[in-house]
Amino acid sequence: MTADYRPLELEKEIREFWEKNRVQQKLALFKEKNNNGVLGYVEGPPTLNGIPHVGHARGRVMKDLRYRWKTMQGYYVPFWAGWDCQGLPVELEVEKLLGVKNKRELLEKVGMEHFIQECKKAVMKYHKEWVAVDGRLGVFMDHGKAYWTYKDEYIEREWQILKRAWDQGLLEEGYYVVAYCPGCQTSLSSAEVGYEGAYQVVEDPSLYFKFKLAGRRDEYFLVWTTMPFTLITDTMLAVHPEAEYAKVKVNEEKWILAKSRVQPVMQELGIEEYEITETMLGKNLEGTGYDYPFKDIVPEQAELEKKHPLVHKVILEDFVDVNTATGVVHQSPGNGEEDFFAAQKRGVPIFAPFDDEVKFTKEAGLFNGKFARDADAAVVEELQKRGLLVSAETLKHEYPTCWRSHHKLVWLARKEYFLRTDRINSKVLEAADRVNYFYESPRNRFISFLKEGKPWCISRERVWGAPLPIWKCKECGTKTLVASKKELLAKAREKPQADFELHRPWVDRITFKCEKCGGVMHREDFVLDAWHNSGASPYARFTDEEFRNYVPVDYLTEAMDQTRGWANTLLLEYVILTGKAESPYKAFLLQGLTQDARGRKMSKSLGNVIEANKALEKYSSDVFRFYVLRKCPPPDSNDFDPQELSRRPYQVLSTLYHLSRFFAQNSEFDGFDPEKHTLQSAKREKQLKSPDLWLLSRIQQTIETYTEKLGTCEFNLALAQLEDAVIEDLSRLYVPMVRKELWTDDQETLGRRLAVYSTLWYVLKTITLLFNPVTPYLSEALYQNVYRQLDSSLPETVNLENWPRPDEGLRNKAMEDDFQTLFSTVSLVYSARQSAKLKRRWPLSRMVVVAPEKTREALKSLEGLLLELTNVKVVEYAEMTPQHIPEEGWVSAAENGTQVFLDVHRDQKLLGEGAMRDLARRVQALRKELGYMPTDILDDVYMAELDNETVQLLQPYLQEMKELIRARNIHLLVDRGETGTDWHESQLDERKVYIAIRAQNKKPSI
Ligand SMILES: [Zn+2]
Ligand SMILES: [Zn+2]
Repeated sequence: MTADYRPLELEKEIREFWEKNRVQQKLALFKEKNNNGVLGYVEGPPTLNGIPHVGHARGRVMKDLRYRWKTMQGYYVPFWAGWDCQGLPVELEVEKLLGVKNKRELLEKVGMEHFIQECKKAVMKYHKEWVAVDGRLGVFMDHGKAYWTYKDEYIEREWQILKRAWDQGLLEEGYYVVAYCPGCQTSLSSAEVGYEGAYQVVEDPSLYFKFKLAGRRDEYFLVWTTMPFTLITDTMLAVHPEAEYAKVKVNEEKWILAKSRVQPVMQELGIEEYEITETMLGKNLEGTGYDYPFKDIVPEQAELEKKHPLVHKVILEDFVDVNTATGVVHQSPGNGEEDFFAAQKRGVPIFAPFDDEVKFTKEAGLFNGKFARDADAAVVEELQKRGLLVSAETLKHEYPTCWRSHHKLVWLARKEYFLRTDRINSKVLEAADRVNYFYESPRNRFISFLKEGKPWCISRERVWGAPLPIWKCKECGTKTLVASKKELLAKAREKPQADFELHRPWVDRITFKCEKCGGVMHREDFVLDAWHNSGASPYARFTDEEFRNYVPVDYLTEAMDQTRGWANTLLLEYVILTGKAESPYKAFLLQGLTQDARGRKMSKSLGNVIEANKALEKYSSDVFRFYVLRKCPPPDSNDFDPQELSRRPYQVLSTLYHLSRFFAQNSEFDGFDPEKHTLQSAKREKQLKSPDLWLLSRIQQTIETYTEKLGTCEFNLALAQLEDAVIEDLSRLYVPMVRKELWTDDQETLGRRLAVYSTLWYVLKTITLLFNPVTPYLSEALYQNVYRQLDSSLPETVNLENWPRPDEGLRNKAMEDDFQTLFSTVSLVYSARQSAKLKRRWPLSRMVVVAPEKTREALKSLEGLLLELTNVKVVEYAEMTPQHIPEEGWVSAAENGTQVFLDVHRDQKLLGEGAMRDLARRVQALRKELGYMPTDILDDVYMAELDNETVQLLQPYLQEMKELIRARNIHLLVDRGETGTDWHESQLDERKVYIAIRAQNKKPSI
């Protein structure tokens, strides 16, 4: 073991050790055969469409933590990778790569076959990056068993879920208003519309216009919109039935709008002279007709009036909000969800004259060929011409844009395929309710999202995706769904080409003969929403047998944005598949975002994205893992600051490393044998002392609380336990209490030293095991270099150890309480010392502790330690402040009913001992700096430039100093003289002193 903790080197060595000995594979194989139970797992597949950043790495760490922990608890977890390969993001990237601007260009210039090949290539590029991250992080995920959502066997099983939906009548085609991205030329699911960052501030028209009441001269409805193009598809006006409406006289005209809106709207329009002439309830307006103004330029609108009596009439709807705009809402069922429902329930025809690029078709008359949003200006102009425009301004507001391409979304009624998840919503909610989400707020967010219960539009008008397996007869419209390749080939009218796969264009070329009419059946040329691909994974990635054994899985964790994504689609598809109100996962931890050090979202545009591989080249994986888990609770957003890695997280791991090294060196020197020198033997020989008993008791609580916090996914609190055990219990408290006992090679006290080693063996090894799910490299390194060195019968890897359990026989609550009293009294002494500027190393003659009986009893039982830790010669106890303490020459400190008084007077003896300890400490530091092992014995130690007085003071303490610094001879010199020695400058109080060390036969070793 190197003298310093050098994690990057250590991790490289351990990585090689794991690879060479196939540790990961052996572990999985062993647990598969020997376990106390199986905990299913299905990987939330990363989309292979981007370089993994540190936020992704945080997610990997949380997955691996659970795997290692549960494995050590004796479970078998099929911790197998999975990759999400298809979908729009991949297509868009490849389009860019191939230099095509849109889908039409893509199909014309590139062709589907070539495109599919390119998509596969793009995916593999990112796959490499992800595998590298896992390798660096030490994530023990099995990549050999990965699933790929684009593979035929996966798609076939995904189809089987669709078949279940089809059979239950939950998969159907229909017109429906979907959010459509004109850039990507595909519809988006409602979940996608709600993605973070999808809403952006955009500028839109803000338009007041009038529709004239049919058969009236100067009466109008006043209406407002931000999307003038929707007037082209307008078919009705809606008012709220119970709200009060007013007729307002403006010049010679009368306008109808909600009464409560009259004043603000008039003010906005800058109309000062107006008068309410009449009021009425909304319901009195029902059925009122209005003159649709564009019948001349959109002739189809005139046809619509003939088709249904409600076209261009007022309808009553509760969703009308009379607190904004005019309270009269124009209805365009082809372009709005609420409008669509309003029309559908009345049987009013849906008018949606758009093509795939959201350009108006010839049914839109004059507007034919115009892109929807580009028609806005033309509509305003036409209103103006007809004298119907009241005001045309613009406004900035939040409007949903495409989460990939940031085009403004357009709501369109389209013919799509839907999973009617709205019909199984109560089952879905019931299933979700049984899941453990660990934290309230992510749970509430998820449940309230699920309550929306909208149908799920699963069809996409794209290429690189799992094909929708529905064929439709051209003649009679009969549809059939196939659920396997076998079935497909059996039905095919012609044998497919050799390179056939379950993708476009190959599947598109397959036609069936209609069983009903003998006509030709063609595939409905959609692909599936990529979220449907990944949502199928609990079924599609396994065989039937594995599915039975592993699902519902034990635990999943993904980033918070998967609330609307994977967490949702997994649940929906599983309820469809099983027909049960059951979730495919028992627990789901949603992690917060990872942001930059200043709390800003990581984004390409800000240039603040930290790639995981680059970061892990530079920083230790263990330190990284500890840091991201320790920093904040999992659902919080994590402000990742690389500078913080080298502070506390490094310090904690480095301390554990040094403690282990300290233990290894000392115990080896004394011939400690863990098989022989056990806690039991130490106990039998009465060599265990109170510090050992205290530490052994403390560690039981650490095991218990730490394990409990891992179970509740409070990783930050769990690690606080480990941090305390290392920094406080071991490093700050226990080791200082026993260090002196280890600092000798006296054979008479060997038994005592072995007892300390058996305590440290137990405690440090336990801590090393507890650390393994967090810092697998450090744990393995310590396991191999410390514990397996001392006991070769231990398992080959730390991962094969059993998870520590609290040993009730080692708990000693009374002892812990006594030590608590001791430590708080010691710190009172320290603060008293501080107020008199007396270093801790300087011995003092006496102190008085004034405290209640219980405290005094505790301190008396630990008096030796009290004197040693406070560095005071004598202690007296009292119930009340004793008379003999004068105000001068004493300092005191008090807390919680305990007061300590400290005699600050130091005679020659105390001064001499203090100086000796100061110097000894400097020699110790120098020993370390020069690379001597703590066990090395020095031949000569020279100390020079001391004044005569100090030399005198030191004389009586030379023997003690020799023992402390492990030296045979100490030479105190006034001058440095001509010794030819290698002097090292040091500081004693205000003075410079010089120290030199000579050890024959022993070269300083680094
Ligand atoms: Zn888009
Ligand atoms: Zn047919």
